[in-house]
Amino acid sequence: MPELPEVERARALIAKRALGRRIAHVHDADTFVCRPHAPGEIAAALEGATLIEAHRQGKAMWLDTDRGPVLGLHLGMAGRIAMDGKPAPRDWDRFAIDFEDGGRLALRDKRRLGRAVLDPDIAKLGPDAAEVTRAAFRQRVGRGTAPLKARIMDQSVIAGVGNLLADETLWRAGLSPTTPAGDLDLEQLDSLRRALRAATRRAITRGGVHTGELIRHRRRSGSCPSCGTPLERATVGGRTTYWCPVHQPG
Ligand SMILES: [Zn+2]
Repeated sequence: MPELPEVERARALIAKRALGRRIAHVHDADTFVCRPHAPGEIAAALEGATLIEAHRQGKAMWLDTDRGPVLGLHLGMAGRIAMDGKPAPRDWDRFAIDFEDGGRLALRDKRRLGRAVLDPDIAKLGPDAAEVTRAAFRQRVGRGTAPLKARIMDQSVIAGVGNLLADETLWRAGLSPTTPAGDLDLEQLDSLRRALRAATRRAITRGGVHTGELIRHRRRSGSCPSCGTPLERATVGGRTTYWCPVHQPG
């Protein structure tokens, strides 16, 4: 599932390849992916405009145009951005832009859980998990009785952490996913933030959250890549969670 690193890679691809190109035609007929817009509504706002900037906060991405309307794109559970390719079979391009130069930007999404929306509302999102300041991280993450893993995955607390990035980060920080978030001291919170930034940067560079050091061992009968101890497995915050009982004592 796309998490912050996958969305950042999509944003960087758009920034590199799609900016400055004029929109000739918009395919917005999928009323589920384009909800609440009617077919033709996004097209009317964007056709003739030029994409000028690509932004991201957490897993939310949005593109500015020279005419004013902003296009929000969300990759959902399995979506990706396809640039300048042929249309995908079976309508897997749920939303697409044809540029005047003949190229194309598509939201390719077999599972149809992505979104394309005008002027997206990002007011409820917390600060980006890769950019949040130390003071804001301490104040937002270090409170409450929710398990730490649930707290860092709460998009209104910090934005961008999904299931895999959470497990990788907690393993790097040596913190148990089940510890109540409010029990962490400042040193632990700072170490958690450093681990999150390191795990995020590494995943962006290497191609996504699946490249994490723990993630490759994250399976039944998997063991800690650092000490070889069999990993614990449980549902935490509603999600399947793996951790090392030696490095991440609860
Ligand atoms: Zn270990």
